[in-house]
Amino acid sequence: GREKKADGPKVLKVGTEVTFPPFEFREQGSKEITGFDMDLIRAIGKKLDMQVEILDMDFEALIPAVKRGNLNLVIAGMTITKDRQKIVDMSEPYYTSGLVLVVGKGNTAIQKPEDLKGKAVAVQIGTTGEVKAKQLTGEKVRGFKTNEEVFNALKEKTVEALIIDKPVAQYFINKHHPDVVIVGNTFETETYGIVMRRHGELTPKINKALAELKNSGEYDRIYEKWFGK
Ligand code: GLN
Repeated sequence: GREKKADGPKVLKVGTEVTFPPFEFREQGSKEITGFDMDLIRAIGKKLDMQVEILDMDFEALIPAVKRGNLNLVIAGMTITKDRQKIVDMSEPYYTSGLVLVVGKGNTAIQKPEDLKGKAVAVQIGTTGEVKAKQLTGEKVRGFKTNEEVFNALKEKTVEALIIDKPVAQYFINKHHPDVVIVGNTFETETYGIVMRRHGELTPKINKALAELKNSGEYDRIYEKWFGK
């Protein structure tokens, strides 16, 4: 007779936004999406015995897509915030980060956050960086869909500064923009979480898989691959 197929989703539809290196990005000339988050979610998929399908979307579209059920989850260097937790579930933290201020080398006018008042600042739309920039500038914020555009705006001097997550700032500076610098320390600490439908059955499964990867040392191996010891 015919074999009965097992129920339940075999494919995990995972949303991300690919201009956030080294968490999710495409290597020059490659179509494949790579990065710390990608290795982590593929390892989680293996644990859950599910196939991982990665979908690249605008950052601001990710949470709405989980809400509508078009994605099973999001991994996108997304900071765990109270506002987001009102709309979706977020996993236990998997990475500790924070925002930094970035300016052109030799810009002496901006040396601390308070100096941003009234200045044009570039950010990615929908991010915690956008929220911070609005607080500091008094609404004079220029939002872009990709972080390449954010850095180009600073390079072309259409803005005086940008605000972005520190590890991503360091990556862009090292690889593409030696002419810009980080000013000062991170603002408050932020931690990244995986996003899932609110109160869905996936949340405990993802948290369990994440805990297992941390306990087995596999999480550490992935971390060291991308960030060193
Ligand atoms: N961590 C920031 C946030 O959650 C930025 C994430 C991103 O741009 N991918 O808003």
